[in-house]
Amino acid sequence: MAIERTFSILKPDATRRNLTGKINAMLEDAGLRVIAQKRIQMSRQNAETFYAVHKERPFFGELVDFMISGPVVVQVLEGENAIAANRDVMGATNPKDADEGTIRKTFAESIEANSAHGSDSAENAAIEIAYFFAGSELVG
Ligand code: GDP
Repeated sequence: MAIERTFSILKPDATRRNLTGKINAMLEDAGLRVIAQKRIQMSRQNAETFYAVHKERPFFGELVDFMISGPVVVQVLEGENAIAANRDVMGATNPKDADEGTIRKTFAESIEANSAHGSDSAENAAIEIAYFFAGSELVG
């Protein structure tokens, strides 16, 4: 087991419904610790850069519109196997496929408005953390 850091977003559907505390309670109960956090309004350019890997997908434009439709909370989570632990507690992308007890099963509105983002690899976690936070803002 290794202590890792991963990047998390509480998406606009979560901030709109005032669910950030409830979602973070689930992340904390899963053994993850918030070591950096800020509430921001993403610009269109932020969202397009962040999701650039999906730019050829048919839903890219809708996804960017959704991610800038309201504030988000960007945060860094630390814990044992944090990348997998975060994705496990988030659940499947589509809430219809997500396991009971996961964030997306509990809270997501749709495959798009699915409440939370979590990095899918150590490499992407490092890139995503560095995109939103300076090293001095990570306080473990
Ligand atoms: P994740 O790693 O589980 O977040 O899933 P992906 O990396 O595949 O997709 C990134 C995000 O794009 C998802 O979290 C959703 O918000 C959105 N998304 C994924 N698939 C679809 C889709 O088929 N339609 C729409 N509108 N959005 C999608």
